[in-house]
Amino acid sequence: MSEEKKEKAYRQCLTCADCRVKSCMHKQEDKYPRFCLTAKVDKDLLAEAVALYDDEVNKNLALTAAEIEGQFYGKYTRVQETVEFIKRYGAKKVGIATCVGLLNEAGIFCSILKNHGIQYYAVGCKIGAVEKSTIGIPPENTLTKGEQYESMCNPIMQAKILNEQKTDLNILIGLCVGHDALFIKHAEAPTTVLIVKDRVTGHNPCVPLYTHNGLYSKI
Ligand code: SF4
Repeated sequence: MSEEKKEKAYRQCLTCADCRVKSCMHKQEDKYPRFCLTAKVDKDLLAEAVALYDDEVNKNLALTAAEIEGQFYGKYTRVQETVEFIKRYGAKKVGIATCVGLLNEAGIFCSILKNHGIQYYAVGCKIGAVEKSTIGIPPENTLTKGEQYESMCNPIMQAKILNEQKTDLNILIGLCVGHDALFIKHAEAPTTVLIVKDRVTGHNPCVPLYTHNGLYSKI
């Protein structure tokens, strides 16, 4: 392969996940890596993205997120940040889309919201109790392997109910991977995530990443 082709391949296959200099943070152009995505960014696409922050909802989300980051970075837990975000964003009603396996955690979070005078409406993932086979889930992909009635997770229905409730902001608590994607796709209000479900690590997906040189090296 010619040097030119090697260089092209190098630039094409490396992305921000391969970067360790992060020189885009302070626009240190002389320190950009050879494959830097900022150095080769499509200027029109960038202008299009920046213009979208003029939209009222986008602006409120972006400026409120910046307030939380600027004032509480490293000081507040995610629960505290989320409560503060709700208040400063000005959400009148918060939708909670929760996994039924985390109703205890959802209940504790909702009692915190109540203490802060925040109105909420919570819907569990099994809402409607629709049997898994209804949408074609085969018995081998159920937890009881078809031996018991198993209600499917129904994130589209969770989203529809919270849309009907006219929530201003939704919060996900422990929805399964993929179900969260469906909820976000069908929800009308902006959605943020408080908990991602990871039963093995106590809902901390970073654990296998932090321990990738040890036990998790096999993956
Ligand atoms: S944009 Fe460039 S400097 Fe920033 S993380 Fe990506 S590769 Fe690194």
